[in-house]
Formats: sequence, structure tokens, C-alpha cells
Amino acid sequence: MRANNNREEATVPTVIAQCPRCDTSVPVISTAMLVTATPDTSDERVAGTVTWLCAGCDDLVSQQISWPALLQLVRIGVQLVEEDETDPRPVHPDHPADGAPLTADDVLELHELLSTTNWFDGLESPSPLKGTAP
Ligand SMILES: [Zn+2]
Repeated sequence: MRANNNREEATVPTVIAQCPRCDTSVPVISTAMLVTATPDTSDERVAGTVTWLCAGCDDLVSQQISWPALLQLVRIGVQLVEEDETDPRPVHPDHPADGAPLTADDVLELHELLSTTNWFDGLESPSPLKGTAP
């Protein structure tokens, strides 16, 4: 049994990417790049950003690109990541998102309250954390 498309794997498109940080120009295979479409920027010429791992500085770098460049990258197989402003994580029913999150002061107050001997009795009053300042 022989695979017919062995040659396709050997010819993954590459892009000559110039690193904005270390200025190195090296060929990057298309599957090692990510394109993020962010067309809502104030500059109409900017369609999004392309992100890749630079072989020169060995770091993840990204650069703004125009619409033609973005479309060309997607055409050769670079994965397009859509930026979604909404948080996709569902809210757990046991942890409703209502109310302000605990601040450092709140935690401190709670620990001060718990260090007292009769903290449990305080729970029966309407507001055990407030109005007990010395
Ligand atoms: Zn670099």
C-alpha cells in the first residue's frame, strides 16, 4: 500500500518572516504561524496580526499585517484565530458572577473576624463584616 500524496507533506508553504525584535529574516512554515483578525483597529490598513516563533531570538513575536497579506497567509494554510471579545467560559451555577469580587481588604477583614473567638455569633447579625471596626 502506497500513499499517493507523499510529496504534499514535503512542500509545506513557507513564509519569509522578518522579526520585528531581532530583525532576522528566516523562512517559517505556514503551520507554525497564527493569524489573528482584528479589523476594528483605528487604522484601516491593519487587518490583524501574525504571530510566529522567531528562530533568531527564540521568542514568540507578532507583527501587524494588511488585508492582502492576511488573506495570502490564510490561503497558504496559516491558521486564522478569530478574536472574540466575549468570554466563552460558561458561568458555573454554584459560582454566580454577581457582586463585586473580594478585595485584599475584604480578605483581611475576614481573617480578622475569624481570629476572634465569637465570630460564629456574629454571623447571626445582619452585617458581621461591617460596622465592627474598633
Ligand atoms: Zn527575533
